[in-house]
Amino acid sequence: MGLTALALIVASGFSHLLHGPLGHVAVFTPLVVLGELVPIRVRRHDVEEEVTVSTPFAFTLLLTSGPAAAALALAVASCVADMAGRKPLWKALFNMGQFSLSVGASGAVLTGLGTFGPHHHLTPDQLPVIGVAAAVFFAVNNVVTGTGIALAAKKNVAEFLRRDLLFQMGTTGVLLTLAPIVMSAADDTLLLVPLLLLPIAAVHTCASTLLAKEYEALHDPLTALANRRLFRDRTIEALDEAARTKTVTAVMLIDLDRFKEVNDTLGHHMGDVLLQQIGPRLSGVLRESDTIARPGGDEFAVLLPDVQGELAAMEIADRMLEALEQHFTLPEVLLDIDASIGIALSPVHGMDVDTLMQRADVAMYLAKETKSGYQVYAPERDPYSPKHLRLLHDLRHAIESDQFVLHYQPKAALGSGSIIGVEALVRWQHPEQGLIPPDDFVPLAERSGLSRPLTLFVLNESLRQLHEWRKEGIHLRVAVNLTGRNLHDPNFPIDVAKLLEAWDIPAGDLLLEITENSVMSDPARVLGVLKALREMGVELALDDFGTGYSSLAYLKRLPVHELKIDKSFVMNMAGDESDAVIVQSTIGLARNLKLRVVAEGVEDKAAWDELVALGCDVAQGYFLGRPMAAAAMTEWLRNAAAVAAAH
Ligand code: C2E
Ligand code: CA
Ligand code: CA
Repeated sequence: MGLTALALIVASGFSHLLHGPLGHVAVFTPLVVLGELVPIRVRRHDVEEEVTVSTPFAFTLLLTSGPAAAALALAVASCVADMAGRKPLWKALFNMGQFSLSVGASGAVLTGLGTFGPHHHLTPDQLPVIGVAAAVFFAVNNVVTGTGIALAAKKNVAEFLRRDLLFQMGTTGVLLTLAPIVMSAADDTLLLVPLLLLPIAAVHTCASTLLAKEYEALHDPLTALANRRLFRDRTIEALDEAARTKTVTAVMLIDLDRFKEVNDTLGHHMGDVLLQQIGPRLSGVLRESDTIARPGGDEFAVLLPDVQGELAAMEIADRMLEALEQHFTLPEVLLDIDASIGIALSPVHGMDVDTLMQRADVAMYLAKETKSGYQVYAPERDPYSPKHLRLLHDLRHAIESDQFVLHYQPKAALGSGSIIGVEALVRWQHPEQGLIPPDDFVPLAERSGLSRPLTLFVLNESLRQLHEWRKEGIHLRVAVNLTGRNLHDPNFPIDVAKLLEAWDIPAGDLLLEITENSVMSDPARVLGVLKALREMGVELALDDFGTGYSSLAYLKRLPVHELKIDKSFVMNMAGDESDAVIVQSTIGLARNLKLRVVAEGVEDKAAWDELVALGCDVAQGYFLGRPMAAAAMTEWLRNAAAVAAAH
């Protein structure tokens, strides 16, 4: 349609053009071309846009030389500019068409409303008509272009036009008002016209400097990636858009594990070189519309404005980890880097940028702690979630107000079936929330410095209970779970000794359970505490065996008496070949290291029989008995003793 308009305009105005002021055409056409070729670059919503300065010249040409001259000049200009910019042919045709339509419409207004012919001079009474014509030129031009852009980008056309027109009004709209001035200048002498290029050039320089300054303010100088500010801006914008389109947005924080080591051992320069290589690695697996940022240090952030959902985000995180896993080639070294990624999704995990960033951060720490590569935010594992903060507040009072209770779970020798001990398992009798399981508050207690009072309570209570049972003639060993923090406390063995003495319990009747991970955090210090406990005669067990990362070499050095095979392997033994192999080989390993081996999570007779066959020493699990409150446990133990006596 636009091209047809061009043809019509040119045909109808050609004779007119020949008689018209060729001088105008000769001066303005190059200016129009120049205006299209060298646009002023500006930034809007952190996207770079171009404002072309061709329109005032083209419009002047329309006023002085008619639509044909203006349309031709614009057609030539946009053709040259699009070719220089290597734009596809359809874009060049679209631009030419759109210009011709604007010129045609505006020209029709001029001929309809006024008596504009060639050679006329500008008089004040013509200004309103020129104003209307300029408005039509502006409107047609921008509505056509805006609609085209919005359609191509699959955006809401009305919404896009509303925003775009406001912006264009302040830029090209204002430029159009230059036309009468250009025209008056041309009235005097055409030689004055090129002088107008000077202020435009000044604006041009200003805009480029401004743009460079803005770029600096929004980018990280080392990696040229977006900085924290730009990342926030883009996230805010993406969330706005997502709220309208009801799509899912993902924010991911990536932390390089052991980056400090690189800096310390290879020097800061190498560290910098490594950081510069991260962005290109990540962009290889991301989309153009995603943003990669370096908010600071060895931390990177990724914004995915539109993801399918949690699974898709996890897949992308996986791909990013894979991309980072390839060696990095730094001058003279090959480097392997691990990373931890935390993922937060909107709307499920938060609706605003701060919440999302904070939650991605929590997830990232969890990923680091569990060495799992990536983690999606989970409120139940967030120590800062409102629910946990409330719980933490209550937890501080729980110890003083006696809200913890102990349940006991029996352990039996697999050969004889005799009961050899119990494990003390703490529960929190919350005044409003009822009985809270330990997994929901023990990690919270550990992180908030309540490890010591919690463990001392459990120790004291279970030794008191053991004392009771001993008075009844029931002799057992009680197992108590420790936290990693307890093992970092050099006074802990002294606390234990005092309690054993207070309840008159032989040290060998107390078994302390530790996990591999709690040892690994600071082995030297932990080993000191463990040795002190062992020298006192207290027994030690390695709990949840198989879920941690300790090496066999380490295991040999740990002064423990007992290995507890994690319940996840025992429970799946019948259905999963590899779990069966793990159970079997752990039993073999324990035998070789001369350790007692305990299977936890024994839920049925089949597992029990299998463990007997494999030569496991001790079983614990629902098949034998669930954890029970003290009174129920006492009753249960009496019955078990009666059954044993009857045999
Ligand atoms: P854990 O030390 O591995 O304790 C065994 C957990 O497995 C207990 O959960 C127990 O109820 C459960 N269990 C026992 N037999 C079976 C079975 O046959 N099948 C299944 N599915 N589960 C079984 P609980 O009491 O919820 O304790 C969870 C964890 O909380 C414990 O794991 C331990 O790590 C921690 N914990 C419990 N009490 C204490 C405590 O007093 N101090 C510390 N620091 N941690 C504790
Ligand atoms: Ca345990
Ligand atoms: Ca366990």
